[in-house]
Amino acid sequence: MLESNPPTPMLELENLRVHFPTKSAVVRAVDDISLKLYPGEILGLVGESGSGKSTVGKAALRLIDPTDGKIRINGSDITDASGKDLKPVRTKAQLIFQDPHSSLNPRMTIGKIVAEPLLIHSQLRGSELAETVSKLLGRVGLPSQFLHRYPHELSGGQKQRVAIARALSVDPDMLILDEPTSALDVSVQAQILEFLKELHDERPRMTSLFISHNLAVVRFLCHRIAVMYLGRIVEEGPVEQVFSHPQHPYTKALLSAVPLPQAERNAGRIHLQGDLPSPVDLPSGCAFHPRCPQAAAGKCDKESPIWVTVGASRARCHFAGDVE
Ligand code: SF4
Repeated sequence: MLESNPPTPMLELENLRVHFPTKSAVVRAVDDISLKLYPGEILGLVGESGSGKSTVGKAALRLIDPTDGKIRINGSDITDASGKDLKPVRTKAQLIFQDPHSSLNPRMTIGKIVAEPLLIHSQLRGSELAETVSKLLGRVGLPSQFLHRYPHELSGGQKQRVAIARALSVDPDMLILDEPTSALDVSVQAQILEFLKELHDERPRMTSLFISHNLAVVRFLCHRIAVMYLGRIVEEGPVEQVFSHPQHPYTKALLSAVPLPQAERNAGRIHLQGDLPSPVDLPSGCAFHPRCPQAAAGKCDKESPIWVTVGASRARCHFAGDVE
C-alpha cells in the first residue's frame, strides 16, 4: 500500500545558526538547530534564559538574519528573501512578544493599533474596517469601548489581548509567541492560555511556536516540546512522553523544578551546578558536561553526543535510552 506523503511543515529550520561576531569573539546564540513544525501543531521551545530560544523565534521570521542554514515557511525558502518577498510571509506568520506594553504604540488608540496591519495588508476601509476591528477585539474578549482607549489605560492582560487581536487581524497561519504570558498574573495567564487553546481548536491549521521557560504552561498548551541548551536542541518529542520519560539530564533537571502532583514525580529536585556557560566559549564534548550530574569523565567532556531516538522522542545524550 502506498504511504501518503507527510504534510509540508508550516515552519522548517534546517541546520540554523545565528552567530553574533563581537570585536574579540563570536557569540553562538543558535548553533545548528533543525526542527519541523507541522500545520495544527503547537511546539513548546523551552530552556533557561540565554539558551537562544528567542533568537530562534526572531530568526524564523527573518527579524534576525541567520549566519547559516535554511528557513522555510509553508515550503517557501525565505533564508535569503528580501523585503518585498518577506511581506507575505510576515502577514501569514505573526510574532507576539512577552511585554505587550512595549509592542503597542502609546500614542495610538487601541482601535488604530488593531487597524494598522489591516490598512497595510487589506483593502478594508471605513465602516468595514471599523466593524472588523470591533469583531477582533470581541474575539479576544474586549468590549468595543476599548477602541478609543490608549495602551496606558489597559491592564497587562488586556494589552496582551490587544497584541493578539492585532496579530490575528491579518488571518495568520502561524504564531510565534515569545513568553507571551510570563509578564502576567497567574489568573490572566490562564485566560490567555485558554484563549490560545480555543483558537487552535477553532482553526485546525493554526500552528504555533510557543517560546517559554515555564514547563507547566508548555505541558498545558503544547503538543510537542523541544528543549534548548546553549544554542542547541538537546531533546524533543511529544509533550506527554518527554514529561513522563525525559531522556536528557538537562530536561530531567528542568522538569524536577516543575510543580507536579507527588504521584507523577519520579525523583526529587535536581539542582544544576554553576551557571549557563558563555555561548562565546562552548565547553568541549557535550556542552552540558560541566553541569551534568550524569557526566562520564573521558567521554562526555570529549565526544559530542549525537541524536538517540527513544520511542517517539529523541535526545542528544550518550546515555539516552539507557536509564529511566
Ligand atoms: Fe550528561 Fe554526558 Fe549525556 Fe551530556 S552526554 S547530557 S554530559 S550524560
